[in-house]
Amino acid sequence: MEVEVSVRVQCPFCGQRFDLVVDTSSSHQRFSTECEVCCHPFDVEASCRPGEVLGIEVFAE
Ligand SMILES: [Zn+2]
Repeated sequence: MEVEVSVRVQCPFCGQRFDLVVDTSSSHQRFSTECEVCCHPFDVEASCRPGEVLGIEVFAE
């Protein structure tokens, strides 16, 4: 099974949407990423089951 799933997130700073690859092998995770457009770092929290992202939320620092 493919555990890396790409999901669409929205940057909390500039509003740009872009795709992010999430490893769905852990059911709940929080990690940092940065916007492809404005390069501002932000946190992403994802709820997953293997092969599927159930929910995703972004947090401005
Ligand atoms: Zn941005």
